[in-house]
Amino acid sequence: MKQVIKCGEMLCTDKKTVIKNAYIYIDGNVIVDVREGSEGPDHKSYTLIDLSDKFVMPGLIDTHVHTNMNGGPTEMEKINSMTIGSVAIISLKNAQADLMGGFTTVRDEGAYGFTDIAIRDAINSGVAWGPRIFCSGLAIGSTGGHADSHFSPYMSSSMPFGQIVDSPDEARRAARYTFKYGADQIKIMATGGVMSVGDDPGSPELSYEEMKAAIDVARSRGRISSAHAHGGGGVKIAVKAGIATIEHGTLMDQECLDLMKEHGTWLVPTLSAGYLIAKHGVAAGIPAFMVEKTELVVESHFKCCKAAYDQGIKIAFGTDTGTPFDVHGHQQEEFELYTSVGISAMDALLFATKNAAELLQWQNKVGSISTGKLADIVAFDKSPLDDIKVMKNVTFVMKDGVVYKN
Ligand SMILES: [Zn+2]
Repeated sequence: MKQVIKCGEMLCTDKKTVIKNAYIYIDGNVIVDVREGSEGPDHKSYTLIDLSDKFVMPGLIDTHVHTNMNGGPTEMEKINSMTIGSVAIISLKNAQADLMGGFTTVRDEGAYGFTDIAIRDAINSGVAWGPRIFCSGLAIGSTGGHADSHFSPYMSSSMPFGQIVDSPDEARRAARYTFKYGADQIKIMATGGVMSVGDDPGSPELSYEEMKAAIDVARSRGRISSAHAHGGGGVKIAVKAGIATIEHGTLMDQECLDLMKEHGTWLVPTLSAGYLIAKHGVAAGIPAFMVEKTELVVESHFKCCKAAYDQGIKIAFGTDTGTPFDVHGHQQEEFELYTSVGISAMDALLFATKNAAELLQWQNKVGSISTGKLADIVAFDKSPLDDIKVMKNVTFVMKDGVVYKN
């Protein structure tokens, strides 16, 4: 099918500018031409989609979601009583909500039983519809750490959240196991977390040797690696061991930022996660220990994000959607949180398009509206550069040339 989108305004992420009256020519699922101000030579053979009163931009990319969960105050407890099959079905629905919210690509940052891979493959093969998914499979962490059991290390379960490793050899084996089942990357738990019982977000949970063994497996396959990391100690170990992306980075000092700059490490701040737990609190049913731990990191979280931005560290959009009150398809508040700390609206949009595509190493496929890229396109009634809150109201969604919302 040949389609042409007539745009009012179109965000050019490569030139960091807005083009008026552009035409996007699409053949099947690929953008074949982009014209500024005038129609292409073969215009009449394309079916017109008139977005001449809209702000058009590349499909959004969220590089940190959990398709297994959907924002309830105690999602981990819920999942604990479900079969892997049930979790997979719910995960598909959550991913579909992301797409309807404008997120044509998401990275799942850790899922039970390779359910992220199941839904990715169902979508890619046409069995189901949904966004493009970049998968981590089972996360890798230490005994008693953030990935142990259901964030509750005292429980035993036939369906653990992550793989438990306590030596470099075990870390290497876990990384290989993850790729064996089709993951696109590995996810390691470099420090404790706020949603897990009894661990400390500030403390490292894997040694340099353990992290390096897992990361080297990813590197040798040309794959990226990702670290959940709050405290500076864990961030530094992960960066020195060659991690590609630091998630959260809530308690970083200047040495962390210097190391990330030196190594070209990405930061995915996920400001929404801590902000929403602190905002809703115990009154909304979130366990007290989670709220208490969040309150210890949330202020520093925003400061670290701003410092990283000011110092030119590479940042990509990610929300930790699935965590308490962070709901699939409604994670656009992250854009407002960026601008609240002084990040420009243009850069916030680039975080979720050009930058996120580069983080995934998918810059040849997605992240910009240009010839040869996949036809993942969204539109808004007004320009988010004038009012970033507009991001909450996507009015047009196309993925792979198929219109899901108009
Ligand atoms: Zn997460």
